[in-house]
Amino acid sequence: MDTTRQGELMTMKIGIVGLGLIGGSLGLDLRSLGHQVLGVSRQERTCKIAVARGATDEAATDLALLADTDLIFICTPIAHMRSTVSQLIPHISLETILTDVGSVKASIVQEIAPLWRNFVGGHPMAGTTESGIEAAQHGLFAGNPYVLTPTETTPSDAIALLESILRPLQVRLHRCQPEAHDRAVAWISHLPVMVSASLIAACLSEADPDVIKLAQALASSGFRDTSRVGGGNPELGLMMARYNRAEVLRSLLVYREQLDRIIHEIDHENWTTLEETFQQNQAARPKFMK
Ligand code: NAP
Repeated sequence: MDTTRQGELMTMKIGIVGLGLIGGSLGLDLRSLGHQVLGVSRQERTCKIAVARGATDEAATDLALLADTDLIFICTPIAHMRSTVSQLIPHISLETILTDVGSVKASIVQEIAPLWRNFVGGHPMAGTTESGIEAAQHGLFAGNPYVLTPTETTPSDAIALLESILRPLQVRLHRCQPEAHDRAVAWISHLPVMVSASLIAACLSEADPDVIKLAQALASSGFRDTSRVGGGNPELGLMMARYNRAEVLRSLLVYREQLDRIIHEIDHENWTTLEETFQQNQAARPKFMK
């Protein structure tokens, strides 16, 4: 592994496949830490923008560019991850560490771990409603959790090296089982996307155009906050539902029960019960958010 020390920091040759919001943002931060970053994306245009924006030192549409890299982040949409790794394998050495950034972990780890010994599943808990290389930004990950989901067979030196690269991005590192990750993120990431998407659709189903116009004029921070994640990248929402299907369904069914309960209390004018529910939520939220 050809690494060089720059000040206190070990700098490496890092590859990124999929130069979009996440891949591009990783590139910007890793380059500013002194790493050499080589990028591969599907479109020539994206590669040019990535280099022009300083997200990569070099970029190409051919995976052969990543032949000499020490560590590669797979940042494509989830549906392309397995095929990307299969196509990458003939080009790289056995020591190369592969990691992904997919929002779902169990299915990805099950598919990729058998293909590559030095694979560590990962998920940065950060994003915006934008997508593509134009949306990439410096400091996207700072202050946010970054989850690694190694298995019993993941080499500990691969995990340690990846953590040493991620720590300077000021992320809050966590480790857990891929299945535990999927269950937890169903609650705090995937369910909110489904709920927020339903909120937007329900609001837009108002039949009176004058009411819609008025609602639009009056919409402020509350609607902006609650509709934000439902108005994001459609591909991402679909991938959450498709690749974390069981956990997303499970959380949605529990959510529907809660909605039914609230509907019941309002319908029966059970104001005391409703107030108790809101009071419990008000007290519980700050503790949950810490
Ligand atoms: P994105 O902005 O749409 O970027 C994905 C990029 O992947 C596209 O720009 C596309 O590049 C490239 N790509 C697509 N297929 C490819 C292929 N077969 N080979 C090489 N490149 C390919 O999406 P994103 O939000 O960065 O999401 C990427 C991954 O991050 C997903 O797996 C997602 O689950 C995960 N993630 C997303 C968020 C979030 O909030 N957005 C948060 C955490 C994790 P071209 O422009 O060249 O077509």
